[in-house]
Amino acid sequence: MNEEISTNNKSPKSLLIPILIGIFFGILLGGFLPIFGKEIYFLGEIFINALLMLVMPLVITSMVNSITGLGDLRFLKTMGLKTLILYMITTGIAVILGLILVIIIQPGVADTETERLLLRGGQFLESAEYSITNNQVNVENDTFRKSFDDRYLVVLRDQNIIGRIDFAGAHNQRSILVEKWQDSDGKIVTPAQKGRGIKIDLTIAQKLSGKEETSIITTLKKVIMGLLPRNLFQAMANNDVLPLIVVSLIFGAILTTIDRGKIVIDLFEVLNIAVLKMVDLILLFSPVGIGALIAGRLGEAGGFSGFATEFLSLWKYTGTVMLGLFLHGFIILPLLFYFITKGKPPFIFLRRMLPALTTAFSTASSSATIPVSLECAIKNNKINPKIADFVIPLGATVNMDGTALYEAVAAVFIAQVYGMELSIGQLVVIFLTATLAAIGAAGIPEAGLVMMILVLKAVDIPIEGISLILAIDWFLDRCRTTVNVFGDSVVAAMVETLEE
Ligand code: ASP
Repeated sequence: MNEEISTNNKSPKSLLIPILIGIFFGILLGGFLPIFGKEIYFLGEIFINALLMLVMPLVITSMVNSITGLGDLRFLKTMGLKTLILYMITTGIAVILGLILVIIIQPGVADTETERLLLRGGQFLESAEYSITNNQVNVENDTFRKSFDDRYLVVLRDQNIIGRIDFAGAHNQRSILVEKWQDSDGKIVTPAQKGRGIKIDLTIAQKLSGKEETSIITTLKKVIMGLLPRNLFQAMANNDVLPLIVVSLIFGAILTTIDRGKIVIDLFEVLNIAVLKMVDLILLFSPVGIGALIAGRLGEAGGFSGFATEFLSLWKYTGTVMLGLFLHGFIILPLLFYFITKGKPPFIFLRRMLPALTTAFSTASSSATIPVSLECAIKNNKINPKIADFVIPLGATVNMDGTALYEAVAAVFIAQVYGMELSIGQLVVIFLTATLAAIGAAGIPEAGLVMMILVLKAVDIPIEGISLILAIDWFLDRCRTTVNVFGDSVVAAMVETLEE
């Protein structure tokens, strides 16, 4: 099979320039003509659908192939162990890097009162007057302003924030019923009373509703129970990669013990080659698909100006996450790669992975990117298919360095905005839960955002705080998915060297 794969000359390497041109036009279209950008988004959806369509067949045939190709099951044990250890090391480093950056930069700590308000999604209410009677806030003056996401009214007294009110539907009223204050007896909590920043009354973001119960135990249970599907076809239909990996590994291992298993093993080899050839065909469409996805999402954000507003409203937080992702992707992973692969040039490796990395950025899904990652790893970077076939699909669901880093930064950022001091013990809990969140997050868009509930709950940070980071999450999701995918391929290359 190796021979057949390596002699196939339709390498995704040659697609790099067309993809970069696609991205360039995508950015221009989405940025300057947002409405048009949104119109062509469907071209990107076709690309994602085509990739997702092949994820399941590819995972099954790759896993069966990998295990039957290993010859001896003991190889799986050593390869599996090395893979898991490297996954843990790279994820752990990512979380620690995120923690160090967010503690040094302190994106959630405001220098001025205005900045404090803006951080909380509010606007300065300099001239608004109001009176508070019982649970009623009476706004005497119409000059108050809404928060950036149009949902909250921030109320100040003597320059202190005394509350934030869900504003939905109440724009024109002078009197707003305050339904939820933080204290159980209904008293208004002021910063002075608490001795730290006031708790902000945010409603749970819609994206997270129904997921509030996420906790360490439920996530652990889910990860363990998710290893075996109740219904194989349902797992396939839902694109649940992890149970498919487990079933395929067991199936492949059993095939090797059956005398007449050879025919089926050969069949899977051929199927795998055929699926990869279908991936080749889909990749021909990738420049258009990737460009359209970027144009569509940028268009949805309102073009360059809309994106700039979203970005600037949280620039310190966004900047911290991006700096962390940059350092991890461009310095830490390349260094690890260089040392463990005994001097292979990391940036050439990275360049050859670019079609996969741009697919990850445009789809925001590690799972959807599996076909392209495998192509780039095996064909461009010549990683042994037996190793790539195992390490990459597994990594797409359990190894997410970018997500782990982001979980840590976002959790501490929210704590900082709420004025909470985190102890060393709490930071350790964040380290552990951010790692678990990254393992438990599915390789689909914004899965990490939902897993944030787990991290916040573990250290008692109000989960409503997730609303603060919602506006820009779509963008950070793309950046972290790119690092997630790169991390998987780097581990595949390192495992290959270690196996030699
Ligand atoms: N979208 C990410 C991925 O697929 C997961 C996340 O939301 O962090 O890798």
